[in-house]
Amino acid sequence: MSEAEFSSAALAAGALALEWDAATDELTLSGDAAAMGLSGAAKAGRLEALGERLAPGDRPALEALAAGRELDVRLRLVGEDRRLRLIRLIGRSEAGVWRGLILPAGATPEDGLERLDLEADLRAALAAGAITAHHQPIVSLADRRLAGFEALARWVRAAARLMRADDFMPLALELGLAGQIGTAVRAAAAADAAAWRALAPKANALFVAANATAGEICDPGFADSLIANVDAAGLPARAFNLEITETEIMRDPDAAERAMQALKSAGFSLALDDFGTGYSSLARLDRFPFDTVKIDGYFIRAAGADASARAIIASVVRIAHSYAMGVVAEGVETEADAVLCAELGCDLAQGFRFARALSGEAAGEAVVSGVAGRFLAAGA
Ligand code: CA
Ligand code: CA
Repeated sequence: MSEAEFSSAALAAGALALEWDAATDELTLSGDAAAMGLSGAAKAGRLEALGERLAPGDRPALEALAAGRELDVRLRLVGEDRRLRLIRLIGRSEAGVWRGLILPAGATPEDGLERLDLEADLRAALAAGAITAHHQPIVSLADRRLAGFEALARWVRAAARLMRADDFMPLALELGLAGQIGTAVRAAAAADAAAWRALAPKANALFVAANATAGEICDPGFADSLIANVDAAGLPARAFNLEITETEIMRDPDAAERAMQALKSAGFSLALDDFGTGYSSLARLDRFPFDTVKIDGYFIRAAGADASARAIIASVVRIAHSYAMGVVAEGVETEADAVLCAELGCDLAQGFRFARALSGEAAGEAVVSGVAGRFLAAGA
């Protein structure tokens, strides 16, 4: 397409025509650059000025333009009006001149600069080790002793603001950072658990559980690197429990099974997480070497008032026990929940009845002393 053809196509589509000369780095935007929030870039006349408006994750696409490839990509761009725009950038280069179009590709009402700041903060936090693990106690229902913890991702932002995983994991997934965060949380879990065990040598059955997605465990290097990291932290493999959901496993059951068998052989224990939220049966999951089943908090919350929820819990307990698996009740919020879960045969429980997630240090104190009115010290 010639320059003139691009310009007329741009006008017809309400888009901008873009022309960039690689030799001189001269950028020409024709059309209503202000409507696209790009009048600054148009005035600056440099490709870099356009790049400054793009989300960090989208910048490689602009570099591909500089390298002269053919392009058809969707990008996120913040205009001078701070609005976030989704744009489509298409075109190709000929003889060192790149010609293309910037088309609107939908819009969102969120504040674009705030969003880009959040992305930059999240990347910096990950690099600086500010994303770490907090630990929610898991308590034995038979004697109300601390049995272990589930490590959950927490981001300590500026001004002592603590962000829960739900607040930043969707963004992390979008930016492709979830795996790095998972690795950081599992490493922190192993290091903290090794420290607790040193504080309370009698608590030798104490475990720490951490989560992994199917995308992570199906990575061929996952099991080996987790085994090496837990070993390097000085934590026995049997004290580390990896939680995986049924839905995640079913994305690639064969690869998941290989990783799980490798972890089992190394001495790790495995938990089937959020059970009941997917749609398969425990019998179908028999091929996977789980040690425990975690019943989703949804059933525990319903159980007080709903006989069918109680029947589901009782039957999960029966089947799990017949496979020699332990059962953890999640989302135990009240003493009545805890009593009911014990009556229904659950072995362990976790939830606000016992504690929210604790910092590594507070978790260490709970290992040694318990929390009055909540649960007893581990292994005492
Ligand atoms: Ca979990
Ligand atoms: Ca869970």
